Amino acid sequence: MPSLTEKRGLLARDGFHCRFCGIPLVRSETRSLIRTVFPGALRWGSLNSEQHAGFQALWLQYDHLIPHARGGTNEPSNMVVTCAPCNNGRSNLTLEEAGLLDPRLREPRLTHWDGLERFRA
Ligand SMILES: [Zn+2]
Repeated sequence: MPSLTEKRGLLARDGFHCRFCGIPLVRSETRSLIRTVFPGALRWGSLNSEQHAGFQALWLQYDHLIPHARGGTNEPSNMVVTCAPCNNGRSNLTLEEAGLLDPRLREPRLTHWDGLERFRA
């Protein structure tokens, strides 16, 4: 996993949208804070079936373009911000093996969406 400093750099570059599909995203730390403030409103268990479907889909993750298991590093050039479905769906496949275009060929989708970071203020 990337360090906190590496994660901050990726968020500054990629914003809070999946670099593959463009869906808006929320960091797990922000989701946890929302759960603390609104207990019971946001289910989050260890199984997918026990997790709030909306927040599961919006789960911000950090993905290695060359999979870590195949020698990929945490260098920013090898990492992108992704949603859970894009990250988990590709697993340890290369972009070519998964039939995906390289997301680095498109500019990051930087919009007004802040990943609900304003909730942390
Ligand atoms: Zn995605």
